[in-house]
Amino acid sequence: MLDINLLGTGGMVPLPGRFLTALMIRCRGAAILIDCGEGTQVAIRAAGLGFKQIGVIALTHFHADHIAGLPGLLLTIGNSGRTEPLTIVGPQYVGQIVDCLRVIAPQLPYPIEYREIMSDGPVWADGPLSLSVQAVEHWIPCYAYKVSLARSAKFNADKARELNIPVRSWSVLQSGAAVEVDGRIINPGAVMGPARKGLEVCYATDLRPGEGLVRFAENADLFICEGMYGDPELYEKAVEHRHCLFTEAADMAARAGVSALWLTHFSPSMPDPENYLPQARAVFANTFIDQTGVTLRFQDA
Ligand SMILES: [Zn+2]
Ligand SMILES: [Zn+2]
Repeated sequence: MLDINLLGTGGMVPLPGRFLTALMIRCRGAAILIDCGEGTQVAIRAAGLGFKQIGVIALTHFHADHIAGLPGLLLTIGNSGRTEPLTIVGPQYVGQIVDCLRVIAPQLPYPIEYREIMSDGPVWADGPLSLSVQAVEHWIPCYAYKVSLARSAKFNADKARELNIPVRSWSVLQSGAAVEVDGRIINPGAVMGPARKGLEVCYATDLRPGEGLVRFAENADLFICEGMYGDPELYEKAVEHRHCLFTEAADMAARAGVSALWLTHFSPSMPDPENYLPQARAVFANTFIDQTGVTLRFQDA
């Protein structure tokens, strides 16, 4: 199960009633935060979420609306009582850039481990939960993130009984190791069902559409993508500023075959993004917008 909170839907500047785009994903008591613009800690508080469990902060790129909230947030995480290490993932030079921001937040009660993205692919994993990245086209190096939760195969208890495997050995097989029963070696494949599809959430903001991103988001359960401008007349502006129209995000969602598209990172010049939702839905029907943030729950089978 992944609890997903889009903490805001604003691009460039936070507005009254519209926090900057940032994503909190919680799983099994841990939390991953992607992006941290000005005021993100206010958005976390407004959503009723905690700070102490944030163990990973992933940054898409080093524009202020995605990182300027870091020093304050790091202090608040410290004040929440965290002492365990915190990992910060980001493009090249992430350590140097965050250390510069930390000139105003030098004393923290927990160590920070930096993980610099060197290429597309996996960047972090903890058990079944993992993060991978894909470069996207923006002004400066920028990455889309995919949060994946692997789902273990189903254990066939009837088969295990049939093979006279003692119950105390079941968990060993479930963990992927073989067991010996009465001189026979039983491999996990004998009692585990076929692999089951896990959960995938793709978060992509500040970009022009691209085939690499479409492939990266393929079959995701949820695609959270920027839609800086709703009005299709602003195409030239979107190209010039390296951002997307709603319809362009919807087109990528359709081609990637995702289950749902959640639009975010709206221009401050667009007070009512809902007005442009019909155009996006004409391209990809399961598109939605939420300006206050909701929690989506994916149930394990
Ligand atoms: Zn931005
Ligand atoms: Zn940007």
